[in-house]
Amino acid sequence: MFCVECGAEGPVYQGVCGSCFAKKHPVVEPPANLDVPRCAQCGAFHFRSGWSRVELDLAIPQLLREKVRALPPFEHVTFTHVAREEDANNFFLTVKASGRFEDLRQVQDFHVRLRIKPSVCDTCAKQAGRYYEGILQVRAEDRDLTPAEMRGVRTLVLSRVERGRDEAGDFISRTEEIHGGLDFYVSTNALGTRLAKEVAEAFGGSVTASPKLFGQRQGKEIYRVTTLVRLPAFQVGDVVRHKSEVTEVLSLRPFVELRNLATGERRRYKAKDLRGLRRVDAERFETEIRPGVSGGLVAPHPDSGAERPVLSRGVRPGRAVVVWTADEAYVSALPAIPSKP
Ligand SMILES: [Zn+2]
Ligand SMILES: [Zn+2]
Repeated sequence: MFCVECGAEGPVYQGVCGSCFAKKHPVVEPPANLDVPRCAQCGAFHFRSGWSRVELDLAIPQLLREKVRALPPFEHVTFTHVAREEDANNFFLTVKASGRFEDLRQVQDFHVRLRIKPSVCDTCAKQAGRYYEGILQVRAEDRDLTPAEMRGVRTLVLSRVERGRDEAGDFISRTEEIHGGLDFYVSTNALGTRLAKEVAEAFGGSVTASPKLFGQRQGKEIYRVTTLVRLPAFQVGDVVRHKSEVTEVLSLRPFVELRNLATGERRRYKAKDLRGLRRVDAERFETEIRPGVSGGLVAPHPDSGAERPVLSRGVRPGRAVVVWTADEAYVSALPAIPSKP
């Protein structure tokens, strides 16, 4: 075969050789500029499919595929590029477009200026408008959240929301520290439900939801759901009175485990079945259990020397960690609370 244009021998495409074909058929028609909106808040780029947070280096090939069309008969055009930053919003791109026609692979070089147009994505716009659908409340039963719980809950919630931001557009428009707990204003009710479950799993506690009819949108009823996570009144190591027994809390998750301090018997409960349980003021420390003057064993306080009768069964004299209440002492299954330096 030979080329009808230049007479060269070899494979021909629509009657002409590869180099004559290239002169007649560019792979693409490069635009002068490539304009793309980018969210000034979160850095998301606006693609044909919507907003997405990707690095610039990954955004550029996608933008080239979307905005630089292959010219027939070429198809399956791929791009490689080198970007030179001119300023924060302008990049000078040197691009190689490679297209295929039959068994011919043809490469075309071109330049294009990528112009980033600062904008606001849908998610950031809603967030800035303090939009919210529901409220996630985190409280503790009969007490304020401890500072560690406040920090832990915040960190957990914010990291989960960050993860769901791109796919689901999840966000929190406001966080309030209120009534000894936390309120999160969440972008969707589903998000509130999901976060409540995660907080309850991580910190113990029960979840309740109360939907309120908020209005109508396109004939559909809109509910604003307040989801409440209630953390237990007590923490591991607390001494609580359960019915008539004095018990210590061994664990909170997945069940609350109480240990009867007199008998040593352990039992598990669901957090919601232990509502209203009372804490007993108690100290926990290591001491030398010894026989008392009036029979039975006593536990002396290491600082004051005051003694309490030891009511736990099967105890022998010797060193032990005890729970020390106003009237009595018990042997504990937990380690002593380290004294503060
Ligand atoms: Zn030719
Ligand atoms: Zn954004």
